[in-house]
Amino acid sequence: QAGPNDLQTKADRLVQMSICASLARKFPKVTIIGEEELPAEDVTEELIEDGHCEEILKKPCPAQYTGIKEEELVIWVDPLDGTKEYTEGLLDHVTVLIGIAYGGKAIAGVINQPYYNYEAGADAVLGRTIWGVLGIGAFGFQLTEAPAGKHIIVTTRSHSSTLVNECIGALNPDTVIRVGGAGNKIIQLIEGKASAYVFASPGCKKWDTCAPEAILHAVGGKITDIRGNSFQYNKEVKHMNSAGVLATLRNYDYYASRIPNTVKESLVP
Ligand code: AMP
Ligand code: MG
Ligand code: MG
Repeated sequence: QAGPNDLQTKADRLVQMSICASLARKFPKVTIIGEEELPAEDVTEELIEDGHCEEILKKPCPAQYTGIKEEELVIWVDPLDGTKEYTEGLLDHVTVLIGIAYGGKAIAGVINQPYYNYEAGADAVLGRTIWGVLGIGAFGFQLTEAPAGKHIIVTTRSHSSTLVNECIGALNPDTVIRVGGAGNKIIQLIEGKASAYVFASPGCKKWDTCAPEAILHAVGGKITDIRGNSFQYNKEVKHMNSAGVLATLRNYDYYASRIPNTVKESLVP
């Protein structure tokens, strides 16, 4: 446990070892940054994944990416996003996030939801993978618009603060949905369950936003900090998204223009 607000379980450690070691073996020159600090120990062979997804390889690579060199990529890994909710049994809040950045921008991402459908009965397929690339699109889910004319805000369940709630209050929402995980909240946006993800607090890190950002941008959405600054994902960048998160599939300007200056000024990027 890294702290009462920042848990680490055996699942976080094993999943990160598996993802990072498998990627490093296949792409030795890529920079991989994972959330968990793990002791340098040998990864057992059973944790190595060496398969690949045919569906992805069938898509043509966008022209602007054909010249990318392996060493120019940074991969941000959150092995288990929504750990707090995971420890409380809210399994569908949990996602595994793998985001790929090039030139400081999130260009591709995977959101795996290992417990998707876990309450849907024995016949339902458990788990799903949503993935996207800028210039190709996003797959593995049904893009759905949020109800028109309603302001449904999705925010943190377990990392609230006075400022977080003050910011939401200022947006006059019809409904506030409180769920765990940055990945899970982006899913709420692209599946039409919520119209804006608003989190006026430090706490989210680059591995929380990289994969979700690539997928959201691939379908025409927008994510920034609360002050409207875009996120950078080059390997030297500070991990913390100190000025919070504002994300929408549509109508970004509506929400951005209503965030009080006092809230913006309380958050230093
Ligand atoms: P949440 O919306 O609370 O589930 O947070 C989204 C992501 O940001 C999760 O990975 C959280 O662990 C992380 N996060 C947000 N706020 C905090 C905080 N105050 N302390 C530690 N981690 C946080
Ligand atoms: Mg996380
Ligand atoms: Mg995590």
